[in-house]
Amino acid sequence: MIRDNLSRIKERIQAVCSKINRQPDQITIIAVSKSRTADEIKEAVEAGLTGIGENKVQEASLKYKLLSASGLGPSTIKWHMIGHLQTNKAKEAVRIFDLIHSVDSLRLAREIDKQAAKINKIQEVLIEINTSGEEAKYGLSPRGSIEIIKEVARLENIRVKGLMTVAPVVEAPDKTRPYFRSLKELLEEINALRVTPEAIRILSMGMTDDFETAVEEGANMLRLGRAIFEKK
Ligand SMILES: *Cc1c(COP(=O)(O)O)cnc(C)c1O
Repeated sequence: MIRDNLSRIKERIQAVCSKINRQPDQITIIAVSKSRTADEIKEAVEAGLTGIGENKVQEASLKYKLLSASGLGPSTIKWHMIGHLQTNKAKEAVRIFDLIHSVDSLRLAREIDKQAAKINKIQEVLIEINTSGEEAKYGLSPRGSIEIIKEVARLENIRVKGLMTVAPVVEAPDKTRPYFRSLKELLEEINALRVTPEAIRILSMGMTDDFETAVEEGANMLRLGRAIFEKK
């Protein structure tokens, strides 16, 4: 089933890409496996999805151990933290995640830096941006983010690789376009102002209901849960 879902997703990405002249191989699909079992993750990995996204540290940690024990260790699976990260979970997060998408404060970044230094790791992160301004959402405001990103980028054991956003739930996928567009514009502004030592490239945006719009707006990392794990 996962294999079939994935080929349908790839066809849809391909269709969007050919319309707008983008290369589909520059778009990474992260399989969001929150609430799925280790066996389901195994099936996803066997279908070729080696980027796995989780939103809770404890749950991820458990699956990380299970899968590592069954031969799918960190050299095979790249683990992505996509949910809100509490400072007191930073230590465990740094141990298991290859990319943390949800850095949303300087305080959290400093804790990640500190924990990464302890294990001699350079932790790659994305900065989460609240592009819609919804109060219930995590993420920095686009305006306020630049000064904070400048500080985060100075931390020795952190590397800022890009930006992440979660679009609001809307009736039509096309309504998400302004949020994706504003994330891309922010990335371009950050690069134009040389806020980070190296240009940032990753735009983590687009989920099951809106990934085609996200691809049209420049997403290069999609976080897909239901589209991969649920029967069509
Ligand atoms: C659950 C989740 C996803 C995946 O959502 P689907 O709609 O199932 O594709 C992506 N990003 C974040 C932050 C999530 O929490």
